[in-house]
Amino acid sequence: MPATIPVLPASFIRELSKYDQQTIAYEIASFFLKEDFSSSEIHDLVAHTVSFPVPLVQIHESVFSLELFHGPTLAFKDFGARFLSGLLSKFAETNDQETTVLVATSGDTGSAVAHGFYNVPGTRVVVLYPSGKVSELQEKQFTTLGGNIKALEVDGTFDDCQRLVKQAFADENLRRGLSLTSANSINIARLLPQSFYYLFGAAQAPRHLPLIFSVPSGNFGNLTAGVLAQRMGLPIHQFLAATNRNDVVPSYLKTGSYQPRPSLPTISNAMDVGNPSNFDRLVNLFGSWEDMTNKIKGYAYSDEETKQILLAIFEQHRYILDPHGAVGYLAVREYQRSNPSCTYIFLETAHPAKFKEVVEAQIGSIEIPSRLQELSDRQKKSIKIPAEYDVFRQWLA
Ligand SMILES: *Cc1c(COP(=O)(O)O)cnc(C)c1O
Repeated sequence: MPATIPVLPASFIRELSKYDQQTIAYEIASFFLKEDFSSSEIHDLVAHTVSFPVPLVQIHESVFSLELFHGPTLAFKDFGARFLSGLLSKFAETNDQETTVLVATSGDTGSAVAHGFYNVPGTRVVVLYPSGKVSELQEKQFTTLGGNIKALEVDGTFDDCQRLVKQAFADENLRRGLSLTSANSINIARLLPQSFYYLFGAAQAPRHLPLIFSVPSGNFGNLTAGVLAQRMGLPIHQFLAATNRNDVVPSYLKTGSYQPRPSLPTISNAMDVGNPSNFDRLVNLFGSWEDMTNKIKGYAYSDEETKQILLAIFEQHRYILDPHGAVGYLAVREYQRSNPSCTYIFLETAHPAKFKEVVEAQIGSIEIPSRLQELSDRQKKSIKIPAEYDVFRQWLA
């Protein structure tokens, strides 16, 4: 956690719509970085991070989709990955040891991090992913780059991958010989830039009604970043934590008891997490269950509901949701029934084409962006390992 969270000037928040994305991002980033980086370095970093548009698209009256998928790997994780790689490449200039970046992925993190770090001098990226549990296109995004990007195909679940990474960090012997860093959202440098786009969204939204953000959630990094944005002074009235049937946090919000459990596979697979790594940060930010339940309402949905809403929104509004955004939309719809006078923004966390099979099964064939299309012909390169720490450790060392 950052020791302090900046509070932005009230006039800046009030007049957000006057500023462009890079100005907003600079305002936040400079607070955290100004002791270590010059203002032009921070400008460069921000320009590298938010180098693509983040449009707010109206779906129907007072409901908006904040499209976070216009970056190089078509998912919101490009923000965190690009900010982190930009930062580490600055540090690498003054450090002669190679940095090994470890990342466990259920799909999108791996590709964003791999692209963010591809060919960054002084870094090697090790992506761990659960064999057979990520979509083919997702897998291609991080197994076809080569160079300083290595893909480990783990015979297990995402939770196994996350456990192996955490074990490596706790292994002092290993760390004596290797400079390790994490590119998962346990790394705070991933989270900070994710707070930017809550402000980008608010800057484009009508502001006379209470602002609601619905966040499709897995490891809860996105939601945590939203809470940071709120602490910075953005008037967010309520967060909706939307999950698939991996609903440990919605259950906690309902009952006050936190019961992590093994993750279950769903069609919104980037949210198949049974023990979210940012839960502790949320607890730290709120201090008590009462405070957390005041600000965050939890919702969970089945694959069947997700598929139905995907089709319904396409038929009624010609808007194509991806399965994760669909879960976010479902929470908006449910909350809206009892709270009708608000502005609702759900995060559209990935381009629907990244989940082509699921989306096309509902609405028929969709257009695939050329960036993804080109991947189909490339050859996957991965190294298969069992979900055993000793094997992983040996390979790393
Ligand atoms: C990672 C991811 C999520 C979940 O985000 P968290 O920060 O882990 O809660 C949701 N949707 C997509 C498409 C993702 O890639």
